Amino acid sequence: MNLTAVLKRMPCEVKPRFLVLYGSQKGQAQSIAEGITEEAEEHGLVAELSCLNQNEKYNLEKENAPVVFIVSTTGDGEPPDNTLQFVKHIKKKTLSTDHYKHLCYALLALGDTNYANFCNCGKTIERRLQELGAKQFYATGYADDGVGLEVVLDPWIEGLWKAIKGALSKMASDRTGQFKGEVGDSAKEAPDSSVPDVQLNLLSLTDHQNCESAGASVESDSKFASAASSSVSATQTAVSDLKPTSPAGSPRLASQPGGIASVSTSAPETQTGGAGVHHVALAASLTCSMPPLSESSLNVPTLPPPYLDVSLQEVDGEVREDITAQSNKEALHEVPISRAAQLTRGDSVKTALLLEMDISAYPMMTYQPGDSFDVVCPNRTSEVEDLLHRLGLQDQRKHCVHISLRKDTKKKGAQVPSHIPQNISLLYLLTWCLEIRSVPKKAFLRVLVEYTRDSVQKRRLQELCSKQGAADYNLYVRDQSLSFLELLAAFPSCSPPLHLLIEHLPKLQPRPYSAASSCLRHPGKLHFVFNVVELPACTGRPAGRRGLCTGWLFDLINPVLVFPGKAESSSSPALPKIHMSLRPNCFFRAPSDPSVPFIMVGPGTGVAPFIGFLQQREKERQENPEAVFGETWLFFGCRHRDRDYLFREELEGFVSSSTLSHLKVCFSRDDQEEEAEEAAAPAGRARYVQHNLLRNSPQITNILLKQNGRLYVCGDAKNMAKDVNDTLIEMIKTELQVDQLEAMKALAGLREEKRYLQDIWG
Ligand code: FAD
Repeated sequence: MNLTAVLKRMPCEVKPRFLVLYGSQKGQAQSIAEGITEEAEEHGLVAELSCLNQNEKYNLEKENAPVVFIVSTTGDGEPPDNTLQFVKHIKKKTLSTDHYKHLCYALLALGDTNYANFCNCGKTIERRLQELGAKQFYATGYADDGVGLEVVLDPWIEGLWKAIKGALSKMASDRTGQFKGEVGDSAKEAPDSSVPDVQLNLLSLTDHQNCESAGASVESDSKFASAASSSVSATQTAVSDLKPTSPAGSPRLASQPGGIASVSTSAPETQTGGAGVHHVALAASLTCSMPPLSESSLNVPTLPPPYLDVSLQEVDGEVREDITAQSNKEALHEVPISRAAQLTRGDSVKTALLLEMDISAYPMMTYQPGDSFDVVCPNRTSEVEDLLHRLGLQDQRKHCVHISLRKDTKKKGAQVPSHIPQNISLLYLLTWCLEIRSVPKKAFLRVLVEYTRDSVQKRRLQELCSKQGAADYNLYVRDQSLSFLELLAAFPSCSPPLHLLIEHLPKLQPRPYSAASSCLRHPGKLHFVFNVVELPACTGRPAGRRGLCTGWLFDLINPVLVFPGKAESSSSPALPKIHMSLRPNCFFRAPSDPSVPFIMVGPGTGVAPFIGFLQQREKERQENPEAVFGETWLFFGCRHRDRDYLFREELEGFVSSSTLSHLKVCFSRDDQEEEAEEAAAPAGRARYVQHNLLRNSPQITNILLKQNGRLYVCGDAKNMAKDVNDTLIEMIKTELQVDQLEAMKALAGLREEKRYLQDIWG
């Protein structure tokens, strides 16, 4: 049978397929990949979804359909855990330059410009794919979580469908040409994409899509009508166009997809849920919008299909309610706190606390300075109680949760979340498994619309997840770190069922903290230091709140806290225990060769790992007095010399013992001191660490560029790490007399050689 006959016999119903592969650390890339997979059907396509580490489910070596990669970046530009194997595989030097020459791909990289290595994992994969001969069929998207992923994400996905169809057509015609070349009368005949059978194939594809989309547009209308009339419906809508709430109070459908917004001159009425009180809105807020948004037609995301069946059962036997139900329980240790001290003065803006842990009973927790520890923390009891009440499940808290996949789910690649153990109580689920404070994503808001009774609240939720409401979403939800619970409080008529929470809330992640000690100085002990995070009040948060883990630790140790300048009581009360696991960082280590000079930049609690480095170094110096030790520099910064200068005595001690060659400290809010300093220093005052780096530019660049030295940065990713990075570029420009690009390349080289290392968070 020739190819024409084969193609003609292909059933019209067979939709063209493509592959979606994701690499995700916290679930963002995964949920985008899932969204694309679900939307594919509306475009007459079939998407096969796999995580990059599920290599038994896909085979890129033989793949002949377009491949869409969605990958995030984590840590210091590292691939997510579930992408490490894949990256390792494609980086193999033995792979030839035509290894992936059959592959057509598109790639969406997720990153955060607050971190220096923006989208590094996506860039690495892209570079290797190209080096291995793969062809890009659609321009790579670099979505920035620092400004809101959707800025790039939405248009990228919008354009993806046309690009996939183009790639499918091209691949089909290439293949046909090739096949004809192989089996045709003339084996040497050049491929010709204009031959009729190829056209037939393309036509059948297009016809099919036309049928589908014609059906879809009619269906979409009727589907939406049903969604609008029934408030609690799990009906699937396509990317729907919604018009503002009608005076009668129920949202109306725009008559045509992409319809023009109706223009209303009257100010929108708002209604407080349930109470039926009407008032005129004067300003926009989380719950209330203003024109033009309030009068605009809306494009909302596709309704995510439900995929879990969740039931609660009363049980006589054991239901796990303690931490031993955690999936990584082998790595977890219940470690006693042996000392808790406040490092900052009472009048300091931030409260920094130091915890000393007694790890003597856990040899497997032996750490190196530079390593971190994961601390497992529960959700706040009061918030779990609020949620139980809100769900109407307060009497079922001890019931066992049964979760299974819905048999009829339309969600592709649906799985029961692996972070939820079997045989746990509802209380355990809400306390230890789900991040109930996570900022709700737009897909979650979209589905919450279906469970919101009040029409004004419904409309506002639609706005917040819509394309037109992106700025409001950023302003009132994302930038405020508004939690799911706070959102529920602001939308009182929203009553989601339990399965939605399990489908949409991410795993409650342990919080990492850097070791602030060395085992050589403190055998059997581990120190870490943290600021108690304070989130201010905002429109959806009437009162400020503390960070989850730091607030929990603060409450836990408050009764036993030792304050600066106060004598420690000899009969301290029993100290609590917390669950932790070691999180080694093989790169963020002091040089193994003691003669290598190094520079440490760590303002605030970012100084933590460097206390460990210096304690270790001091011991090594004592044990090897003959050895040659390179120069060490520490750049530290805080607000006030006498309020929040962490580890002051210890740092000055390191200078006295010559363990630390140069200690450069700056105080951002000590005005009097700064003014005097400013008068004395022609180079200007040093308010932040980067200013002190600049002041010492010749020595620092000399260490980095001529003495093979290293530079470590630790602490706040949002401002400090970026400012330090920019300053280093300026310094290199000046010292080497090169342009911006060359300086950036030099810094990238240092990073590549692991001589410029970051351990940053934010
Ligand atoms: P959460 O409840 O998780 O809230 C924190 C979130 O709130 C932030 O992500 C931010 O989005 C938001 N937020 C914070 N402030 C505001 C604000 N003013 N307005 C709006 N939103 C805000 N931290 C340390 O203190 N010391 C360390 O040594 C340390 N080491 C770390 C090492 C690594 C490898 C990593 C990744 C992180 C490290 N961290 C460290 C950070 C730490 O893990 C936690 O993220 C931090 O303590 C906050 O946790 P939390 O649960 O209290 O806050």
